Amino acid sequence: MPVDLHTHSSASDGELDPLALVQRAHGRGVRTLALTDHDTVAGVCLLQRQRELPGALQLVPGVEISAAAGSLAVHVVGLWVDTASSALDEFLHGQGRLRAERGQEIARRLGRAGLPGSYEGALELAGDAQLSRPHFARFLVAAGHCSSEQKAFRRWLGRGKPADVRCEWPDIATVNATIHAAGGIAVLAHPLKYRLSRTRLDALLGQFRSAGGDALELVSGAQPGHAAADLLRLATKHQLACSTGSDFHSPKQTWCDLGGQPDLPEQATTVWDLRA
Ligand code: AMP
Ligand code: MN
Ligand code: MN
Ligand code: MN
Repeated sequence: MPVDLHTHSSASDGELDPLALVQRAHGRGVRTLALTDHDTVAGVCLLQRQRELPGALQLVPGVEISAAAGSLAVHVVGLWVDTASSALDEFLHGQGRLRAERGQEIARRLGRAGLPGSYEGALELAGDAQLSRPHFARFLVAAGHCSSEQKAFRRWLGRGKPADVRCEWPDIATVNATIHAAGGIAVLAHPLKYRLSRTRLDALLGQFRSAGGDALELVSGAQPGHAAADLLRLATKHQLACSTGSDFHSPKQTWCDLGGQPDLPEQATTVWDLRA
């Protein structure tokens, strides 16, 4: 039964609004869908207010939280979080403030490089969404400074580039505790995206587990199909359950549509086993 436990809507940096996302997921045969926007549950709340969702689609309330594991920026997906939790709400407001401050610094740097007005521009493109770097990328494209969002990251916003601003995200122990306070399960997202050696990845998983983490995203949309077997060995070693998600942002994204990520290995202990 197709499941997708990592997706984005226009409440953060995704293209589809939450209802359109659910409709697309349903059309693709996804029966269990987590909406996990960056540092916001606004899209989930909107869906929870709907009287019914298309088909028998089961919505898992989620969030993808920006966090720090030592000096490394990582993402922690919270699944089955209570969107009414005041601890979570307060925490996510703090994330919004950090994002605003980082955005102002990004804009200062772009301004110094001769690209003015990007804070206001990105904010306008974000609208009610949680402000994120793709909004800056879209602004740079719209203002004619870059020919694609990819190139905006490669030239300005990506790792080591002039407008790459370090952000003091809360540490993983705080993030995991906040997810737990909201009744959720804490999942380390897309482990291969951090581009760590296997030794460092092993250390990160140990650190995440000691910090209260529950699970590892064993299967993620952009990773090669053969990666899951080795990640399963690491998950087992660190007693982490397994999750799976496409990390879908847009229908234009060619590498993986909703629910299109490879299957979880059959022997994996899953996040829904943890829930049971
Ligand atoms: P933020 O959470 O504001 O730091 O933005 C991170 C988001 O930017 C990621 O979730 C991706 O959706 C997007 N992103 C990061 N790096 C790139 C890249 N090199 N090209 C395109 N999008 C990217
Ligand atoms: Mn994103
Ligand atoms: Mn992420
Ligand atoms: Mn994501």
